[in-house]
Amino acid sequence: MRKEYPCVEVKLSKITHNAKQVLSMCNAKGIEVIGVTKVFCAESPIIQAMLRGGITQVGDSRIQNLKKIKDMKCRKMLLRISMESEVEDVVKYSDVSLNSELDTIKALSRAARRLNKFHNIILMVDVGDLREGVLVEDVIPTVQEIFKLDNINLVGLGTNVTCYGGVLPDRDNLGKLVKLKREIKETFNIELPLISGGNSSSLYMVMENTMPREINQLRIGEAIVLGRETSFGKSISNCYDDAFILKGEIVEIKNKPTVPTGKIGMDAFGQTPHFEDKGIRRRAIIALGRQDAKVDGLIPLDKSISIFGASSDHLIIDVTDSKKSFKIGDIVEFKMDYGCLLAAMTSLYVNKYYEKELAIASI
Ligand SMILES: *Cc1c(COP(=O)(O)O)cnc(C)c1O
Repeated sequence: MRKEYPCVEVKLSKITHNAKQVLSMCNAKGIEVIGVTKVFCAESPIIQAMLRGGITQVGDSRIQNLKKIKDMKCRKMLLRISMESEVEDVVKYSDVSLNSELDTIKALSRAARRLNKFHNIILMVDVGDLREGVLVEDVIPTVQEIFKLDNINLVGLGTNVTCYGGVLPDRDNLGKLVKLKREIKETFNIELPLISGGNSSSLYMVMENTMPREINQLRIGEAIVLGRETSFGKSISNCYDDAFILKGEIVEIKNKPTVPTGKIGMDAFGQTPHFEDKGIRRRAIIALGRQDAKVDGLIPLDKSISIFGASSDHLIIDVTDSKKSFKIGDIVEFKMDYGCLLAAMTSLYVNKYYEKELAIASI
């Protein structure tokens, strides 16, 4: 098959492998895993690969993604706090949603009643990262109000850290959830079944065996997709970090100086660039730019290649030290960080190709 560039190639068997690894690591500690699909826009071949790895529940931040996969056989969680204007779809297309506002939960209750359904919610608690969640001292009064609502099941407490404030999950902040669960049991005599203890940044606690045993759910995207835990950016042993490869085509290749000639003003993005004089280098231009990817998140597979910079549609790389002698039409391959993957999967200009059958080499 002739490919169109730029493109992302997804090695589905590596996703399946990573899902299996993360799942067995968590299941061994009594933790269930929600496979998070937002970074790849809930593309169904990739979800199928996760399901082949044993994932049975997926989570996405956007209700239109959950709607897109409504016929897939898995439980679906809405990760982003519901908008009041979308509650009807939230009840229709998600089995459980994360919430932090009583008014929205009331609107979900009314929508569920209209649809003659029950809707499950997890109440998000802010344990310090200052993204979503009710403050710890407001949990009991909020729970009391939730218990009064029709057609709403409160199934657990949850938290999200390391997303806005960069606060790392630890026994102290996750311990607050455990304490709240006990308080709810004592106050209302109701045992909430779930404590959802965060995202890929919480995995290190599973690996170091420091996760409080009451935490029984994690919502994991990056670790499955890129094989990385995200508290310290360490790779997870026996997981692939190259399931997604971005490929671009060389459209110009010339020896040129490293410092522009002429007076330097602002570049296309309003920055004043600085240049280090490295003399004459072999520079290739790839038809790939900021409308396709996040340039500082590109990692060339050929380690001798470095990136000079990029504009909206041109990426300029230094291939002087590569063993390969590149020519026009050659394809250059990159791994991506999370932000770059998000941009590439979301860009309309990047083609996506899914490789199903791939013999997995040992890693
Ligand atoms: C994105 C998201 C996750 C998954 O985060 P990763 O770092 O990719 O594991 C989990 N929970 C919520 C609420 C999210 O928005």
